[in-house]
Amino acid sequence: MKGFRFISGEESRDLTHFLRESEKLLNSLGYEELFLPLLLEKDDLSYGLEETELVEKQLFSFKDKGEREICLLPEQTSSILNFFQNKMRIDQSFNQRRLFCFSPCFRYERPQEGRYRQFLQFGVENFLSNQEHAILEIVFLLDRLFSKFFQEGTTLSLSLNFLNSNLKQQLNNLISNSKVEGLCDFCRRKLQRMPIRILDCKNCCDLMENYLLGQKEYIEIVSYQKLKVEEFILALSSSISLSSLRMVFNSKIVRGLDYYNGIVFEVEDSSSKNSLAAGGQYQKKFLEDPITISGSGFAIGLDRLLSSNLKKVVEQKKILLIYKENLNYNLILNLIEEILLSLNLYNTYIDVLSEKDFVGRQKSIVKEHYNLAISLFSPINPSKVKDEIRSFVERNITSLSKLS
Ligand SMILES: [Zn+2]
Repeated sequence: MKGFRFISGEESRDLTHFLRESEKLLNSLGYEELFLPLLLEKDDLSYGLEETELVEKQLFSFKDKGEREICLLPEQTSSILNFFQNKMRIDQSFNQRRLFCFSPCFRYERPQEGRYRQFLQFGVENFLSNQEHAILEIVFLLDRLFSKFFQEGTTLSLSLNFLNSNLKQQLNNLISNSKVEGLCDFCRRKLQRMPIRILDCKNCCDLMENYLLGQKEYIEIVSYQKLKVEEFILALSSSISLSSLRMVFNSKIVRGLDYYNGIVFEVEDSSSKNSLAAGGQYQKKFLEDPITISGSGFAIGLDRLLSSNLKKVVEQKKILLIYKENLNYNLILNLIEEILLSLNLYNTYIDVLSEKDFVGRQKSIVKEHYNLAISLFSPINPSKVKDEIRSFVERNITSLSKLS
């Protein structure tokens, strides 16, 4: 189906590498993984009415057999907020949480190069009561993650802005009163519904900014935003030294959904101009509930990340295991497990061949295809399997690293 794809080979290994390493880092800082449902009832989307209309154009929605309006998960944050709201209703002390999730998300739009109808998101959110710490921690994590996976010398820019409901209101008024010619169809519709989002449009943002720069009120808004961002950069620089991100103020960063409130940001690969991650501080009040949720977070678009200038995962290792015909297959599985665990290699491929089949092969072909061949000719004592296998693997690790 168009817009859906298989991820295999090198890309799949890069993805596994990213997920494992990120999980390690996040777990070490107390983040728990949250698994999100992929189907939602449309009414469960916790957007404002106008946003829903806008999001709806891209919503992958349909009616199920019970004639219910349902949709596929469009993005993670709104679902995480719903989850949090439900938990908080039952237990007010359910805060101070740190969460991360990995899931596909879906949008219904014409598939174009590098954009899929099913795409992968990696989201990290925290709900610390100290909101200044919360956002510092988020930027720190983002920097650590990107410096882990990008080649040295890659410049990633962290574009920052400051938004709150007051500023959004003022910007919306200014933009909806503008008489700018030449906006795209989509932005002409936004003019009535969510004017501020025009600053998000690659085609129209410059047109709109040129108009706004002639407005005194806009100049005042931007200098206030700049001040708040500089305060944040100062606070950040005094406690954290960033290694992969270069911070810049950018008044055109406006996050789409209405709950963003405070510092908002986007990470861009300066060479490809691809936006790799986005996020910020948010606050969500629920109409029917006295609960207000404050958090900070980011989402990384993994499809874009995989096509970026990532550090290459160590090339896949291929190991050939040759065994005596009479060897129990369970022993062989134990051995494979032990080899992989000892070497902590998730990019290792192990082929198993009986001695009889091996003898018929040409040595040169085997050499060409495998990094290492391990022959298991000596009989193994089943009662000491674990020990024997472990010592066998230990003896052979050196030869493996020599070969790799
Ligand atoms: Zn536009």
